[in-house]
Amino acid sequence: SRPNFGLGTWPARRARISPERVALVEGDRVLTYAGLADRTARLAGHLAALGVRSGDRVAYLGANGIPVFETLFATWLLGAVAVPLNFRLSPVEIRYMLEDSGSAVLAHSPDTDALVTAAAPLPESVRHRIEVRPGHFPPEGAESAGPALEVPPPVGLDDPAVLLYTSGTTGRPKAAVLTHGNLTWNTVNQLAHIDLRDTERALCISPLFHATGLGQVTLPTLFKGGSVEPVAKFDAGAILTRIEEARITSFSAVPTMLQLLCEHPLWDRIDLSSLTSVIYGGSPVQERVARAWLDRGVRLQQGYGMTEASPGVYMAPAEGSAARPVSVGVPHFFTDVAMLRDGRPEDVGGDPGELLVRGPHVFSGYWNRPDESEASFVAGWFRTGDLLSSADDGWAYVADRVKDLIISGGENVYPAEVEAVLLRLDAIANAAVVAVPDTRWGEVGAAYLQLREGAVLEEADVRAHLEAHLARFKVPRFLVFVPELPANATGKVRRVELRARAAAELTAAESAA
Ligand code: ATP
Ligand code: MG
Repeated sequence: SRPNFGLGTWPARRARISPERVALVEGDRVLTYAGLADRTARLAGHLAALGVRSGDRVAYLGANGIPVFETLFATWLLGAVAVPLNFRLSPVEIRYMLEDSGSAVLAHSPDTDALVTAAAPLPESVRHRIEVRPGHFPPEGAESAGPALEVPPPVGLDDPAVLLYTSGTTGRPKAAVLTHGNLTWNTVNQLAHIDLRDTERALCISPLFHATGLGQVTLPTLFKGGSVEPVAKFDAGAILTRIEEARITSFSAVPTMLQLLCEHPLWDRIDLSSLTSVIYGGSPVQERVARAWLDRGVRLQQGYGMTEASPGVYMAPAEGSAARPVSVGVPHFFTDVAMLRDGRPEDVGGDPGELLVRGPHVFSGYWNRPDESEASFVAGWFRTGDLLSSADDGWAYVADRVKDLIISGGENVYPAEVEAVLLRLDAIANAAVVAVPDTRWGEVGAAYLQLREGAVLEEADVRAHLEAHLARFKVPRFLVFVPELPANATGKVRRVELRARAAAELTAAESAA
């Protein structure tokens, strides 16, 4: 028989080592590793009975919960490809992703019923729509439930495991094809950086349809035999309470979540001493937010990565993070990095440059998009599209996305740097700086500012603050107060939209003046 080291075998492999340890907790439902292995095999049998075969796509729509894990592992055990979908997307986007992925099955949780109905008619490829209920799937005793899958088909490490859609910050989301090997190597990389144990009690807060939710802490914790508690909805107060009550040891989050947690009224009253690893990443963090966590003695580690890298590329070692709170640290263990200079890969260092990545956790292409796949590699390296700078001590900083860079009178202006200065003003809740075409300077900056509720701030005060902290050429020409910044489902600012708006409104205003 051919070997099978696919992700679908993890529950059974883990059950050989620690069958009675708890793998998943949700409310009063507790699943041990032996239990998870059993349910994975039964659900895989059920899917096989529906006609699902190796390579078929199985989409999943629903909030974090035990059913997502059962669906993922069962899909993997069958050698089929999981397509976790973002339930915050619109029905039109969901239909597009089902069609684009050619999914044969749409598994979903009861709370996404309305969304699935609104997405109708479902694409023709979708042969089965199944509702997954905690504890009721596969439908116990129901005639449609096939026998447990006794002999799983061989699954190779190079076989696709998931189609994971990117956040769609820079355009339409693209599905990165991640293999069993990609996710396994990412797990090894994370474990080289993060001190996870079999006694872990991890919260799974980040949604599992993003690579960070899946890869940063969740799969590594399950690999180690710790327990994972999926959280369906982000509620800062409830999460803080749960950390204390369940003596939670670890979780991964995006910076916005860290901010909402440390600004919550309960923050000062909650015992955080059980936390050993808090991992975050996905977008720039405000220094004061990182400090708030570090000041509470939490081991906070920033990661940098992307869907295409499963996702980890850089991570700050726990030792040294406190001295460099906004650094993304050093490359992962099995990760090579370089910088694109004059079209060629060169050693990392010097001025910020576009980061190139290669490693066994890096994907080899997008689903059904040969042109974009080819364009995203140069000499075997993946082009991240991100500008990175590396300090003398080897610790790196994400400067910005290449596409977001503002070139004003030949000088590079990094929006992230300007935004960080803006966010030091307490009245500003959120800020985004984008380029506006300018006949004299090529481009100038426009800052879109969202104030905190009830806060008052004069344009002149913002300007004075900027001029006190930044070189003249970096200070945005335009300051625009808005009720809210346009964001995608992940909470990342949709800069493409702001740029278009700035080009239309601000240059017109300028020429009218
Ligand atoms: P799309 O590729 O569809 O435009 P996206 O790039 O936002 O969307 P993701 O793969 O979810 O989709 O996000 C990866 C990107 O997030 C990185 O390329 C980088 O720009 C940004 N990012 C990730 N981690 C960090 C971090 N620690 N600090 C700053 N930016 C980060
Ligand atoms: Mg991207």
